[in-house]
Amino acid sequence: MSASLRIPDYSPREITVGRWRITALADGWLRLDGGAMWGVVPKAMWSKMTPADERNRILLALRPFLLRDGEHTLLLEPGVGDRWSEKELDRYEIDRRDTLEESLARVGVDPSEITHLAASHGHWDHIGAAVVERDGELVPRFPGIRLALPRVEAEMTLHPDPVRRGSYRPGDLAPLDERGLVRRLDDGEAILPGVRLHILGGHSDGSSVITIEDEEGREAAVFWGDVCPTSHHIQPPYIMAYDINAGLSYQVRSRWFERAAEEGLAGLFYHDPLVPFARLEQEGRRYRALPLG
Ligand SMILES: [Zn+2]
Repeated sequence: MSASLRIPDYSPREITVGRWRITALADGWLRLDGGAMWGVVPKAMWSKMTPADERNRILLALRPFLLRDGEHTLLLEPGVGDRWSEKELDRYEIDRRDTLEESLARVGVDPSEITHLAASHGHWDHIGAAVVERDGELVPRFPGIRLALPRVEAEMTLHPDPVRRGSYRPGDLAPLDERGLVRRLDDGEAILPGVRLHILGGHSDGSSVITIEDEEGREAAVFWGDVCPTSHHIQPPYIMAYDINAGLSYQVRSRWFERAAEEGLAGLFYHDPLVPFARLEQEGRRYRALPLG
């Protein structure tokens, strides 16, 4: 049996897309159940790609991305944050050795320089860092900066039903919403010029990908969010058990993987412990990930 992955050292990796310099940051690590991360894929297959620990969990990155064009500084996917109980820290083995602040400092960016915030969906491991606790009160981590996310995801985060309650925490968004700092986006809307949200659904009601255009206005990179959590989840049926609508996940993943391979899109992966950037290549009926950056 192969041993579970050890947490790798953080090093800021970068690619350039059009006028955007895209930097892979870090907001710690966590471990989630391998079976839940791989759905119907048998352990005999997934454990070769993502080895499990003694509690059957696999190591996942929590990786915000920083997009800079000299005018805007966009933090894409704030991160998991630090509002966690001992029980949760243990269950998910949330490891905070490389925090958002620390990784920003490593690339010479002060949090006050961030001008825009966006998220692909409202799950706690993606937006928990948008809010901090100060003197017993929950307040925005980036004062005065709006968080852009899909409209339906804002509603699900603020008012999760019993089925969704395990994945959303109202406290991740309510402190922003009370201050008018939630920007609710519809499908196809631009977050910034050349940075566009595509609401796909499947993983969650409004789960989305975010594309980044090159100088010619061609979509040249895609932030996968949880539509494709790691560079190993690149075959359309490799759908997480967490996904709320697996049939829709299959459709949107098939369509977008085909497009990403055909157009050579640079992919940005939030949860892959080792590969922040990769493009896809089609080989017969399967896809292969080619790391970049
Ligand atoms: Zn998610």
